[in-house]
Amino acid sequence: MTSWDELRAGGYVTAGVAMGSLTTYKLGGPARWFCEASSAAAAADVIRAASRKGIDILVLGRGSNLVFSDAGYDGLVIRLSGRFKEVRIDREAETVSAGAAAPLPVLARRAGRAALGGLEFYVGIPGSVGGAVTMNAGFYGAETADVAISASILDMRSGEIVERDASDLEFGYRRSSVGGDDLVLEASFAVEPGEAGRISARMREATRWRRENQPGGTLNAGSVFRNPPGDAAGRLIDSLGLKGLRRGGARVSTRHANFFVADPGAAAQDVYDLVHEVRRLVRERAGVLLEPEVRFAGRFRGVLDEARGGQRA
Ligand SMILES: Cc1cc2nc3c(=O)[nH]c(=O)nc-3n(C[C@H](O)[C@H](O)[C@H](O)COP(=O)(O)OP(=O)(O)OC[C@H]3O[C@@H](n4cnc5c(N)ncnc54)[C@H](O)[C@@H]3O)c2cc1C
Repeated sequence: MTSWDELRAGGYVTAGVAMGSLTTYKLGGPARWFCEASSAAAAADVIRAASRKGIDILVLGRGSNLVFSDAGYDGLVIRLSGRFKEVRIDREAETVSAGAAAPLPVLARRAGRAALGGLEFYVGIPGSVGGAVTMNAGFYGAETADVAISASILDMRSGEIVERDASDLEFGYRRSSVGGDDLVLEASFAVEPGEAGRISARMREATRWRRENQPGGTLNAGSVFRNPPGDAAGRLIDSLGLKGLRRGGARVSTRHANFFVADPGAAAQDVYDLVHEVRRLVRERAGVLLEPEVRFAGRFRGVLDEARGGQRA
């Protein structure tokens, strides 16, 4: 059993690593401890040692749905790398398996090049396979629940690796049963043979739609709020004239009202305050309580506690 001090001395865990550059918002402070694990055994070792020391643990994917607080994260942030970025194609079984760190656009393109369709919707989602399983990421009329077969998950409390079928993952709207104590290691997806040209055209179409409708090339984390039943959060925010509303270095996008864009150098607290303010105004003026889809990690000033504003994401 490796001790925390041994892991520190061996360079497996580093102190004070800036999280901003590991997220799409590019803001927020450092993680007290950071570890990049390229095997399940290495991840389990670090997790066991951190748990014994009572250190909070947060799993980071590609940081496209996460905002770290300006004070950073007072615990261990663990990210998978190396072989967890691999994508494997099994043409006979019509499945594609990928490590949790594989970027979703890579997954979509690899399957497409092999003339296997079904994963095209991932082409414009800048997350990882692990993040997609956790969030039931979806786009363009399809979501992870439609294609996931199973996921291999490390239970960070027991250290056991379990294989969960899609039905055990309890996918719902931008949610799953993957919780703060689970580390998704790998997932497999159903695909179907198709024509590479058509699959690639569908990907181009999805990318074009995104370019035309969303604020590309800006600092954001995708949709800020979940859509309320029977409506779209963006439509609701727009209908109240809140496009362009600003808190410090963060503003509601003028392209798409459910995207909140940060200026370079903005504070994470600005994003948090803007989310809070828009939520308050929508509740006051439209009587709808929007639930954030974006997750916050670390400590923020304010009362957005339903938005997981505590230490854990
Ligand atoms: C420009 C833009 C467009 C977007 N468009 C879409 C869209 O169309 N549809 C959509 O659904 N989302 C969209 N998103 C949001 C985001 O890409 C997805 O939620 C994605 O699934 C998050 O993956 P990630 O790897 O970045 O996760 P992160 O942001 O790193 O983490 C998100 C959550 O998942 C957890 N997590 C991540 N990896 C693992 C793992 N291996 N094991 C356990 N838990 C894990 C984290 O702890 C955290 O709670 C968009 C974001 C951006 C910036």
